[in-house]
Amino acid sequence: MDQQKQQADWVLTGVSRLVTLAPGTVAGAEGPLGVVQRGAVAAKDGRIVWVGPEEALDGAVDTSSVAPGARQDAGGRAALPGFVDSHTHFVFAGNRAEEFQLRHAGVSYEEIAARGGGILNTVRATRAALPEELWALARQRLLSFARHGTTTVEGKTGYGLDAVTEARCLEIMNELAAVPGLPAVVPTFLGAHTIPPEYRGTPEGRAAYVDLVCEEMLPAFAGRARFCDVFCERTAFTVEESRRILERARGLGYLLKLHANQLGDTGGARLAAELGAVSADHLDFAGGTDLDLLRAAGVTGTLLPGCSFSLGVPYPSGRRLLERGLRVALATDFNPGTSYTENMQMMVALAVSAMGMTLDEALTAATLGGAHALGIEREVGSLEPGKRCDVIVLRGDDERELAYHFGVNLVALTVARGVVSGT
Ligand SMILES: [Zn+2]
Repeated sequence: MDQQKQQADWVLTGVSRLVTLAPGTVAGAEGPLGVVQRGAVAAKDGRIVWVGPEEALDGAVDTSSVAPGARQDAGGRAALPGFVDSHTHFVFAGNRAEEFQLRHAGVSYEEIAARGGGILNTVRATRAALPEELWALARQRLLSFARHGTTTVEGKTGYGLDAVTEARCLEIMNELAAVPGLPAVVPTFLGAHTIPPEYRGTPEGRAAYVDLVCEEMLPAFAGRARFCDVFCERTAFTVEESRRILERARGLGYLLKLHANQLGDTGGARLAAELGAVSADHLDFAGGTDLDLLRAAGVTGTLLPGCSFSLGVPYPSGRRLLERGLRVALATDFNPGTSYTENMQMMVALAVSAMGMTLDEALTAATLGGAHALGIEREVGSLEPGKRCDVIVLRGDDERELAYHFGVNLVALTVARGVVSGT
């Protein structure tokens, strides 16, 4: 055994173009995406130990103890870091296909919500589901995320809206986070998704639900959710309610996120900057001043084009955020109402076709940008030593197929934490 060499228990060779997203740290990495021609990756215990040109692999890495099943040959295809989907709502029961069709027949999202549809439809189904049913649904969805190349999935509660069901959804996410062969899961508590039906109709009811979130749920779930998020929108929670909830959460050790400025200029983006949130998400109606405040506060702007696609409304401009110097993340917002997709490749395609972003910018936003939006940029989002071995191999030999060849799954193989995932 050569002491100078890195030990490895997993290796990927035969890559035509290895997109590292680490142009500064990986030898031979070129361009803004850090592409290594004929690249290779070696890992041990689920962590990358070496990345570089394949011809340098044997000189740098001892691969003698790599089991035959852990030698992956990309067969001349392109590879890149797994997608980091930093905004999803993947734990729920029920289906809203009928509502989707109604909406596209002219009934507005807000009108559907006012009729007790929308989120409340899913709340009813989620509360009624058996824990094992919810677990199985969530697992199936994570497998689908993995098959589409996603290796980290943030997941929000918010379809329980009572202490028991919110706790159940968090528990499911924490359990699934430990299952090999699935993407990593980052749990977020979104008890402030909407006012539950039993608290609706009076100001006292609203206040009582905000009290419940602040005084019972947040303390009970501290340590079980990495983030606290609030749906700050005119159909959901006001800026004042959002501030109270998020300040309480921050005091209990949660990191903060905010659904902000999706449907109007509600002040959510300014609140995210004021409170030092890790990300502000949606931002369709964020003004220039909002964006400057977010940038100054180091908040990542997360754009969710699946919502615009599904709702049939204009897309938020990625160009505008980038020109203001904001770090941008792309995410699916996977949810049963306004963005029912597990496919980050489609988000990349929409960013390029409709949001003024280049492919380089879109791929960066879908990987490193997502990692920043979760505060785990030292762990995931690029292929470099020390990070998790989260790699996807495409069906073709060039990552530039992404966005160009859209609406189909271009991912042939997903490896999450060094393990083949999604099968
Ligand atoms: Zn969302």
